[in-house]
Amino acid sequence: MTAFPAPRALTSVDDLVTAGLVAQPTAALTQVAEAFRIRVSSEMRTAIADPADPIARQFVPDAAELVLRPEELQDPIGDLAHSPTPGLTHRYPDRVILAATHTCEVYCRFCFRREAVGEEAALPEADMQAALDYIAATPAIWEVILTGGDPLVLSPRRLAALMARLSAIPHVQIVRFHTRVPVVAPARITAEMVQALQGRPTTYVVLHSNHAQELTPAATEALARLAGAGIPLLSQTVLLRGVNDDAATLETLFRALLRNRVTPYYLHHCDLARGTSHFRTTIAAGQAIMAELRGRMSGIGIPTYVLDIPGGFGKVPIGPDYLQADADGYLVADWQGGVHRYADPA
Ligand code: SF4
Repeated sequence: MTAFPAPRALTSVDDLVTAGLVAQPTAALTQVAEAFRIRVSSEMRTAIADPADPIARQFVPDAAELVLRPEELQDPIGDLAHSPTPGLTHRYPDRVILAATHTCEVYCRFCFRREAVGEEAALPEADMQAALDYIAATPAIWEVILTGGDPLVLSPRRLAALMARLSAIPHVQIVRFHTRVPVVAPARITAEMVQALQGRPTTYVVLHSNHAQELTPAATEALARLAGAGIPLLSQTVLLRGVNDDAATLETLFRALLRNRVTPYYLHHCDLARGTSHFRTTIAAGQAIMAELRGRMSGIGIPTYVLDIPGGFGKVPIGPDYLQADADGYLVADWQGGVHRYADPA
């Protein structure tokens, strides 16, 4: 029997042309590729059914990325404004973001860290030690969020070593891994990887997934390995025009996540990263989708719709609003749009 090699990741415009995902190499696409790195993992390459489908739209570069709007920013959520040491962001008292790596298995065209990802690989040891020293010297830090970069591109050996260093800091109780790997490179979720994520501090895995078509059979098996090991799984989704900006598509995704023991956690309004305006909906459109979802599925499948305030001021829920205060208490809207009086005695 002939063994066919596994399809490799696509990392250039020429690769995308060969794979039939773009028609021809244009000057505009070359310019996009010079500004923002390209990578479509082999799993996502095989998940793309059509060059215009919602998976391709997330990973295949588009000339629209050359459109820069005045409100767009290089560091849209203000990571650098709150960085006490390289690789560390301390925005809220009880938690930090640690960028252990800047590489990913895919480069998403809408990523809010698109200016930072793909440049260097792992955080240099001196910077990692400085970050861990800062965490150890700051007892208010209860939770460490590994993101950045995708932390699960690191080897199980490196992850186990990092977990051991974090476990030596008594006030760190939770380590959260923000990752696309279980979906975009599920073969990385080996028994050794699962073992590296277990133990103290308690681990949460927050899966970034934007469309049910990403949840391939291999992704489903990877999620089962994580859930089977008792690792709590949450998800975050970015609201993206042309990918998932309608209630039916999101309902299908959230139901698929729940079936895989992943609890939908956040729906992010698309951040003001440079060259991403073709992905952004209005907030009003996002609120309307959330209101429709409330009538379509149970609360365990409905994430919180959030906005990262540009400039580094943190994340806030952005509705929709169901309560309106007046002189007699509140008017409350139900899921079908009916309005009811609620008396709220002092
Ligand atoms: S950090 Fe996450 S969203 Fe950004 S390119 Fe990497 S995998 Fe995609």
